[in-house]
This record gives sequence, structure tokens and C-alpha cells, in this order.
Amino acid sequence: MKLISVVVPCYNEEEVLPLFYDEIIKVTNQMKQEHNELEFEFLFIDDGSKDKTLEGFRKLADTDKRVRYISFSRNFGKEAGMFAGLKNAKGDYVVVMDADLQHPPSFLPKMYNYVKDGEYDCATTRRVSRKGESKVRSWFARKFYSLMNKISQTEIVDGAQDFRFMTRQMVDSILEMNEYNRFSKGIFSWVGFKVKYMEYENVERAAGTTAWSFWGLFKYSLEGIMAFSTAPLAIASLLGVVSCVFSFICALVVIFKTLIFGEDVSGFPTIMCAIFLVGGLQLFCIGILGQYLAKAYLETKARPIYIARETDEIYRSKKSESAE
Ligand code: UDP
Ligand code: MG
Repeated sequence: MKLISVVVPCYNEEEVLPLFYDEIIKVTNQMKQEHNELEFEFLFIDDGSKDKTLEGFRKLADTDKRVRYISFSRNFGKEAGMFAGLKNAKGDYVVVMDADLQHPPSFLPKMYNYVKDGEYDCATTRRVSRKGESKVRSWFARKFYSLMNKISQTEIVDGAQDFRFMTRQMVDSILEMNEYNRFSKGIFSWVGFKVKYMEYENVERAAGTTAWSFWGLFKYSLEGIMAFSTAPLAIASLLGVVSCVFSFICALVVIFKTLIFGEDVSGFPTIMCAIFLVGGLQLFCIGILGQYLAKAYLETKARPIYIARETDEIYRSKKSESAE
């Protein structure tokens, strides 16, 4: 028997949850018919939703004993949701997918075919179009990927997604990376393994709204850069060296000018400009340093990545108690 765990992080997804469940049941039943050896579990993560997502999970758990869930004490973010899912999944294979049907369950059979013979350790989708997304957003996304790949040793494929079908071995490697600042696109790629990219056209979410604002994505991309590259620190050093060389040349010029033409005291605005420029540069570089320090500070605290408030186990045992 081979168990496949389907991990689904959900944040305010009460609207799409039933749609998603219908869809995934349809696909997994089909897979079971084709491959007798397959078993499934569905592990939903409620990332501190403010709507009735948790109640939706309970309802599913009532009727389907393969449904498991973890409900967080507050919103910890999708990265934490995926981590909790990977950590608690029991499967020989684990699939991570979004609840909004932007990661079509119909890909699962193909993904399984790639992974089952051991040729690949992971099958994932890569969107080739960004249909339904604003132009500005796509532009920034593309720039982010090209920048990231220039300054980081970890290659991040443009359009790669968190829709991943992975072997137990790969999941265990990912779990060994227990950093607090999790940038999963980087993590997935950092662990390596043989990955099959399947191209597909972007689909829009089935219902509900995205939790990502432009500003949120922007901050997330900075997190990604800092988590997988130290290039900004190198840039800061480089700026320092360049301004040193420049000021040295200026000093030489000033010395020779004074020796040849004598001294005068004009040039106050020039000095002020120079002071502001250098001061600004210094603050900028200290800021970069500070950002890395802040990340290191958070890592040393070693806080838990998520806190669970309720799980299906708690719910089921309470239910059977009250039934007695
Ligand atoms: N999500 C989450 N926690 C959050 C934000 C999002 O678990 O804080 C989940 C969300 O429910 C969905 C997936 O992450 O299943 C992707 O989110 P969304 O569709 O909003 O992002 P997009 O597809 O626009 O990247
Ligand atoms: Mg989505």
C-alpha cells in the first residue's frame, strides 16, 4: 500500500472548500481505480481563518475519516501552513496544493506517474502565462526572478509554484530545514533532487479572494532575497569601497589645487552635499546590515513555526466522549 497525503493550507477559504473537496475526491477516486495500491489522506491546515473554514473542516471530518486537519491559534502565514502539513503528513508521498483550485487536482495522476518509478523525486507545475494578473504585478514578478537568480546560488525557476508532489525522502529533507524565516520556493529548490516541471496556463481562483496584496508580495520577495542570498551585504561593502576610492581621488585633487592655486574657503554647499551623500550611504548600508541582523535575531529565538489550537484528533476524541 502507498499512502498519498494531500496537504492544503487554507486561510479564509470557506467558499472554495466544498468545491475543492468535491474535485479532489473525484480525482483521487479515479486514481485509486487505476492504481490499486493507493491510499489517500487529506490534511487541511486552517491558518487562523476568520470565517467558517474550521467548521468546514469539522464537517468533512465527520463524514470522511481520511480527512485530518490542524487549526492554528492565529494566522501564521502560508509558509507555516505548508510546514505544519509536511510535518504531520504520514504519506509515502506528499502533495502540497492551494485550496482555491488554482492548482488543478487533475494534475495529480500525471504527477504520480512521474514520481512513482523513482525517475523523479518531485513533480511540480510551472505556469507559462500570467493570465488574469495585472501587468505591473507580472513585471515585478519577472524582475524578481531574474534578480534572484543573479544574486543567489539557489536557482528559482520563473513561474514555479508551491504545487508539489514529493517523495517522503524529499519531504524529510525539507523538514530538516527548520528555519523560522521560510521562503519555500527557495527551500524546495535548495534541497535539490530530480524535479519534473509541468507547464500549464494560469487559472483564476474558483471563489473567494487572494490574501496577497501587492505590498505583501513585495515584502515577501525581499524576505526571499534575504533568506537565500547575502548579495545585499556584498553590495553594501562595494558601495563603501567605491566611495572610498572616489573620496581619495577628490582629496588628491584638492591637495594639488591648494598647492598650486592657494587656499580659499568657498565650497560650503559642496561639503554639505558630500556629507549628506556619505551619511545617506552609511545609513543605507547599516540598514541592510540591520535587516540581516534582525533575521538572525529571530532565528536565534527559535520560536515555533506554528501553534496548533485544534486538530482532528482532539475534535474526534471530544466527539466520541460526548457520544458516550
Ligand atoms: N494561505 C494561507 N495563509 C495565508 C494566506 C494564504 O494558508 O496567510 C493559503 C490560501 O488559503 C490558499 C493558498 O495559501 O490555499 C494560496 O493563497 P492565495 O490563493 O491567496 O494566493 P495566490 O494564489 O494569489 O498566490
Ligand atoms: Mg490562489
